[in-house]
Amino acid sequence: MKKISGKNLARPEISDVIPYIPGKSIEEVKRVYNIKEVIKLASNENPLGPSPKAIEAMKRALESSHLYPESDSFTLRKKVASFFGINEDELIFSTGAESIILMIALAFLCKDEEAIMGDPSFGDYEIVTKIMGGKVVKVPLRDFTYDLPAIADRITSRTKLIFICNPNNPTGTIVTEEQTDRFMEIVPPHCIVVFDEAYAEFVKNKDYPKTVKYIHNQKKVIIVRTFSKIFGLAGARIGYAMGPKDLIEILRKVVLPFPVNRVAQAGALAALEDKEFTDKVMEVIEQGKQYLYNQFHRLGLEYIPTNTNFIFVNLNMNGDEVCERLLEKGIIIRPGSMWNLPNYVRITIGKPKENEMLIKALEAILRDNSVS
Ligand SMILES: *Cc1c(COP(=O)(O)O)cnc(C)c1O
Repeated sequence: MKKISGKNLARPEISDVIPYIPGKSIEEVKRVYNIKEVIKLASNENPLGPSPKAIEAMKRALESSHLYPESDSFTLRKKVASFFGINEDELIFSTGAESIILMIALAFLCKDEEAIMGDPSFGDYEIVTKIMGGKVVKVPLRDFTYDLPAIADRITSRTKLIFICNPNNPTGTIVTEEQTDRFMEIVPPHCIVVFDEAYAEFVKNKDYPKTVKYIHNQKKVIIVRTFSKIFGLAGARIGYAMGPKDLIEILRKVVLPFPVNRVAQAGALAALEDKEFTDKVMEVIEQGKQYLYNQFHRLGLEYIPTNTNFIFVNLNMNGDEVCERLLEKGIIIRPGSMWNLPNYVRITIGKPKENEMLIKALEAILRDNSVS
């Protein structure tokens, strides 16, 4: 029989999908560089870990691990729906916001239809668009912020999805309610606007849009949220989408029967109820932010003021090189080269000690570089 390469069996649409390359894990850096203490400020994880109450709830949930979880995250869904003042049928949970983003493309994006996204922004939008054989339309940011008028100009009869990462990853900037209001007025009804609000809970700016109102107004909108960031459950994998009933019903068609495991559901429910914990997280992030701003200022580094738990910084030298040398010292951050901004890096705000270690190491690298 003739030999056929596995490559030739793939759907042609996915031939130019480039698999996501995650940042190095703590375990990997310990192994490769033979270092005992490694700190990770690379994936915008919560510096305080999960809430202690979530840990307790997850431990208890382990004992029922032999039973399938509630398929529709019933208890959690009730709680989140009431928090946002929406109906339970306007809400769906899945295995992290990432899987929600894939579900949106699976459910709505036909071959050759267009998905608009900012650039630089979260990489998943491009991946899921390509998986479906859609056309990626990247609109450059303006002043490191999503440029909604420029996005509006790129809408065509073939546009199906418009991704708005708000706050934007990697720049930490937001578009305001006034801007989204104006934008939603002019988006034609054949387009679905996806607000990725993975970092919404960190935002203090009162001009941040309350996008849930677009659901009440029956706009074609899907709001994506996650328990990975402020709630500290990135490893448990749970996120959700809110939208008008007709859109959420479609998403239900593409989700597998048990997307969110018991442990994650229990952890998320407990985390939601632990305001003491999220208040503490906000405090640590705010302090860390001020410390890092001051240090960047002292080192003469430009940064973009952030609405999140990470900061995008211009190092005035090759960020890949700096990241590599930081790795040798056991510190993991994200190089901007993955967004074609090679002099930038994205730094997650950590605990005070972690921030101090980062600055000390960074300062030494920058000093070496200016001497040589
Ligand atoms: C972290 C992140 C997500 C992914 O969230 P998960 O729930 O962990 O899958 C989605 N969108 C943005 C912009 C993120 O930064």
